[in-house]
Amino acid sequence: MITIKTSREIELLRQAGKIVGDTHHFLEPYLKPGITTKELDLLAEDYIRKQNATPSFKGLYGFPGSVCISVNEEVVHGIPGNRKLKEGDIVSIDIGACYKGYHGDSAWSYPVGKVNSEKAYLLEHTEKALMEGLMVIHDGCRVGDIGYAVSKYAEAHNLGVVKELVGHGVGSSVHEEPDVPNYGKPHTGPILKAGMVIAVEPMLNLGTANVFILDDDWTIVTADDKPSAHFEHTVLVTEDGYEILTKR
Ligand code: MG
Ligand code: MG
Repeated sequence: MITIKTSREIELLRQAGKIVGDTHHFLEPYLKPGITTKELDLLAEDYIRKQNATPSFKGLYGFPGSVCISVNEEVVHGIPGNRKLKEGDIVSIDIGACYKGYHGDSAWSYPVGKVNSEKAYLLEHTEKALMEGLMVIHDGCRVGDIGYAVSKYAEAHNLGVVKELVGHGVGSSVHEEPDVPNYGKPHTGPILKAGMVIAVEPMLNLGTANVFILDDDWTIVTADDKPSAHFEHTVLVTEDGYEILTKR
């Protein structure tokens, strides 16, 4: 069932989303060559806890980190560890925070120092694909409209759309119904109503759309080792559009 949130729940989701956006803003200056992904994870966790919130992903399905940090060919679910960021990397940071029982979820991909033109292209157009997906949202739209908008934009820009992982509803659980795939047909799928909250999160690859999972059972990587980017916002569906809850 896709729940319609009460005004009290929406207020808590706004606060959780703000904490997630603020955590991104807080981390961004640290994304420099030489820092390890574990150091970033600790900084994020400390910041989230100082906002009286908890990291949503810590222990979720057994995930060992507080946030997911995926570098270059890593698509999502990178485990924070000893990997050091290098000049020219791109790093995707997926942050979830739970505030008074409600979650926010937002991923963003960042350049580390100066990146090559291919990576800059991937970042620019994955962010734009997210915005294309958001723009079709309003009371009465259907989940397939979002996926269609994202994949149409991605394909027009020759980017591979990862299909194994999808967006989702957000509420008192970080992953709720419905699934929100980054592909689909217009006018198909569940109908979205004002008061529903969903995360839209395109994962786009510079090369093949194919991915596989590493031996750590978490990290998803591209099959051809080319870079991948991930942009995600949690949004509230409104009568005439949407409200981004995880603004940075
Ligand atoms: Mg996320
Ligand atoms: Mg998500």
